[in-house]
Amino acid sequence: MPDGDATRQGRTLRSAAALRQAGLIAPAAEADAARVAERYSISVTPHVAGLMDPSDPADPIVRQYIPDAAELITAPHEIEDPTADAPFTPVKGVVHRYPDRALLKPLLACPVYCRFCFRREVVGPDGGLLTEAELDAALAWFERMPAIREAILTGGDPLMLSPRRLGAILSRLAAVPHIETLRIHSRVPVSEPSRIDAAMLGALRVGKPVFLAVHANHAREFAPAAMDALNRLADAGVPLLGQSVLLRRVNDSAEALEALFRAMLRARVKPYYLHSMDPAPGTARFVVPEAEGLALMRSLRGRISGIALPAYVKETPQGGGKVPVGST
Ligand SMILES: *Cc1c(COP(=O)(O)O)cnc(C)c1O
Ligand code: SF4
Repeated sequence: MPDGDATRQGRTLRSAAALRQAGLIAPAAEADAARVAERYSISVTPHVAGLMDPSDPADPIVRQYIPDAAELITAPHEIEDPTADAPFTPVKGVVHRYPDRALLKPLLACPVYCRFCFRREVVGPDGGLLTEAELDAALAWFERMPAIREAILTGGDPLMLSPRRLGAILSRLAAVPHIETLRIHSRVPVSEPSRIDAAMLGALRVGKPVFLAVHANHAREFAPAAMDALNRLADAGVPLLGQSVLLRRVNDSAEALEALFRAMLRARVKPYYLHSMDPAPGTARFVVPEAEGLALMRSLRGRISGIALPAYVKETPQGGGKVPVGST
C-alpha cells in the first residue's frame, strides 16, 4: 500500500479532495470525481479505505466505491427508480409490494456509497431520515396491516441509526402481534464493523427473530474486523444472510464468486441473493449480461456446496418484484 495510511485511519472520506489526499485517486482524477460528487454521494470509511489497493487499476474494492466520470453518462436503458418503489409507497418510508411483507426505510444514509447503487438518486448523508411524525405514521401502517408477517428495514442502511433509535423501531415492530419476523439489510458489518458493538447487539434483541442480510460483493470484504463483527452477530443469535450484486470486474468470474460465497459461509452468512444489476443511471460499466450470469451460476453448481449458492435474481420493471433470472 502506498502512503496515506495515517489519513486512512482517521475519518470517513466524503469528497473528491479527501480521496485525493488519502491517495485513493490521482490528482488528475480529482476534477471529474468532484463533478460526480455534485450528483452522487461519496463515502469511504477508514475500514474500507484500508482494504483498497489504489495502485491496482483492477482493484475490486476501489471499483465499488471510488467515483468515475462514467457516472455522469446515463445510458438509454437506465432509469431513475429502477425498482419502481414509488407506486408501491402507501406511506412515506414504506414500500409494500408483496402481500406478507413490506419494507421500512427509516433513513437514506449509508456507511459507504456504492457506485452501482440502484437507489443512487435518493441515498445520501443528508436526506431521507424520517421525522418522528413520519416514522410514527410508517409504524402505524405496519400495525394496522394484519397481512404483514415480516417487516424489512432497509434504506439507506438501518445500522447507521443509533442503537437507541434502531432499538425503538425494532421493539415497536416486534410488539405487533401479526409481525412474526424482522429483517435488516445492511452493509455496515463489512464497511464499518466497529458499529456492531454491545449496544447495537442489544438493539437487535427484541424477542422476535431479527434476520440480517449483509450486502457484500467480494471475498476481500470479509476482512478480520468484518469477520469479528459477523461473529458477534451470529453469537448473539442473529441469523445472517448474504446478498450480492453481480458486477463487471468486481466478481464476474467463477473464481471470484466461489471465493465470495465461501467467505460468507466461513462467516456463518448463508448466500441468499445474487442480484442482476438494476439499470440505475450511470452504472453501465458494471453490467454483466444475464446469459453470462446464468453460465457463471451453472459453473458454480459443481464447484461449491449447495448451501453456498444464492438465488440469481433480478427486479422486473414496473415494480413486478424479484424473479429468478432465466425464468422469463
Ligand atoms: C426485495 C423486496 C422484498 C423482500 O423480498 P424477499 O424475496 O423476501 O427477500 C420485500 N419488499 C420489496 C418491495 C422488495 O423489493
Ligand atoms: S449500501 Fe446499499 S443503499 Fe447504500 S449505496 Fe450501497 S447499495 Fe446503495
